[in-house]
Amino acid sequence: MSLLVIGSVAFDAIETPFGKTDKIIGGAATYVALSASYFKKPINLVAVVGGDFPKSDIHLLEQHGIDTKGLQIKENEKSFFWAGKYHNDMNSRDTLVTELNVLADFDPIIPESYQDCKYLMLGNLAPKVQSTVINRMKKRPKLIVMDTMNFWMDIAHEDLLETISMVDVLTINDEEARQLSKEYSLVKASKKILQMGPKYLIIKKGEHGAFLFNKEQVFFAPALPLEDVFDPTGAGDTFAGGFIGYIAKHDDISFETMKNAIIYGSAMASFCVEKFGTERIINLSKTQIDQRVQSFVDLVQFEIAL
Ligand code: AMP
Repeated sequence: MSLLVIGSVAFDAIETPFGKTDKIIGGAATYVALSASYFKKPINLVAVVGGDFPKSDIHLLEQHGIDTKGLQIKENEKSFFWAGKYHNDMNSRDTLVTELNVLADFDPIIPESYQDCKYLMLGNLAPKVQSTVINRMKKRPKLIVMDTMNFWMDIAHEDLLETISMVDVLTINDEEARQLSKEYSLVKASKKILQMGPKYLIIKKGEHGAFLFNKEQVFFAPALPLEDVFDPTGAGDTFAGGFIGYIAKHDDISFETMKNAIIYGSAMASFCVEKFGTERIINLSKTQIDQRVQSFVDLVQFEIAL
């Protein structure tokens, strides 16, 4: 039973207070799949790139146990391109360029061998494409997790609401939760968003951790205080990859497992921000990941006799 990941596979150009990159490999599905690959293999990928996308980067994905049968290559077109610039505090960024290119008319074709999908991660992409993927699954996956961003709230609001109503878990950041719900309080926002369909809502707060809500419970995981934060690009996707990868590995969708999955997702995201782009998450060991998770446990574990 497999894990299927969809989302953008892209070129990114990133500017942070610490430096600037030219076009490097990025995209939501890239980060999700690389991160999830530390927990579950193979990862089945459905995405699209142009003829300009380096074969060496596709090979890199394959080396991580990512099946690229579902990666369409449009030889005469250009890959999705995104450029962003972070402010000094690194918590906020401006999108400078979004060139959809091959994503503009992306028709997500699901290879027959991917139909045994038990866990579906809908990485950031046009909500219509995300819902098309759900509709093309012959059997509904056990868990559907969806990520999105303000860009789609601005230009495809109705499609977004429809897709949100079809998923089990929605992950968004605090700013996006406020935009979507029109509520400032994240508790009120969570109540409104959970009424839109999903059973679970994850609200990411960057260096301030993440919340997991369902209708009855709430769980909070901090982010690790890190010495070096170089580039937050992809942290949300890396988080999502760790989250769904952990759940797929344990094949359990209880709230308790989701709590652990949030910690693993946060640990993966903490690696991602330490270097530019995907650099830090392409070469991790199980020991390094376990040590990071232990740091989380040490950070928040306390006993109070009441
Ligand atoms: P994150 O930092 O987690 O929000 O994710 C950043 C990644 O999302 C980058 O690698 C971009 O290529 C990708 N991205 C940015 N805008 C979009 C968009 N509108 N649709 C799909 N992917 C996007």
